[in-house]
Amino acid sequence: MSTMNTDHTSPPWDLVVAALETWRKELREEPSQRETPSGPGSEEPAVSTVAEQYKRDPWAILVSTIISLRTKDAVTLTVSQALLQKAPNPAGLAALPEEEVARLVYPAGFYRTKAANLKKIAAILMEQYRHRVPATMEELLALPGVGRKTANLVLTEAFDLDGICVDIHVHRISNRLGWVSSVHPEQTETALRAALPRKYWKGINALLVLYGQRLCRPVSPFCSRCVIRPYCQRRGVTRSR
Ligand code: SF4
Repeated sequence: MSTMNTDHTSPPWDLVVAALETWRKELREEPSQRETPSGPGSEEPAVSTVAEQYKRDPWAILVSTIISLRTKDAVTLTVSQALLQKAPNPAGLAALPEEEVARLVYPAGFYRTKAANLKKIAAILMEQYRHRVPATMEELLALPGVGRKTANLVLTEAFDLDGICVDIHVHRISNRLGWVSSVHPEQTETALRAALPRKYWKGINALLVLYGQRLCRPVSPFCSRCVIRPYCQRRGVTRSR
């Protein structure tokens, strides 16, 4: 199992991140660019939008991150807002019947499982953490339905701590670029923690998620329009536009 980049030259991190940030800035400033082949969408991943709207409230971020698993951004956003309106804190969610939570979480994927996990999490936070979301990886991973992706996102978005949240987009693009050579997202996280300068850890998820949704698409990426094409090894890319 190899997770490290076997190329001995380090990627030009500053240039790549600067190119991605410029691209995102232009996307925000140019509304016509927000239409993508997969349809219109907000210019930020849903959890980042929730983080902004709820002033980095850890509970809001934890809830929306759990809802976001295997769920489209637009659904994550509307479902998170509806649920947080009824349950703005763990006590609010604990007071709702599980059926009601499931109804609010629908149509997010696995809504029944998510509702059950959210109920358990609310009870644990009330009993063990004085109604607060814990701020360590270990404590977060002990919560039902919380994996490394969720824990990293909560640590970075809610507590401004260093972490690298690796989802399918970060995993796919990191491999295509040649930054890592990994099979599982957890291997990607380990490899990125070793290679990526720490100053970029927190922001890389939002940048690559957006890039993966718009340009570096899973099946046929838009390499002809890619702003980081000169730095990409295009590993595993057999078809592109
Ligand atoms: S060149 Fe293609 S594969 Fe590489 S990052 Fe750009 S869109 Fe993705």
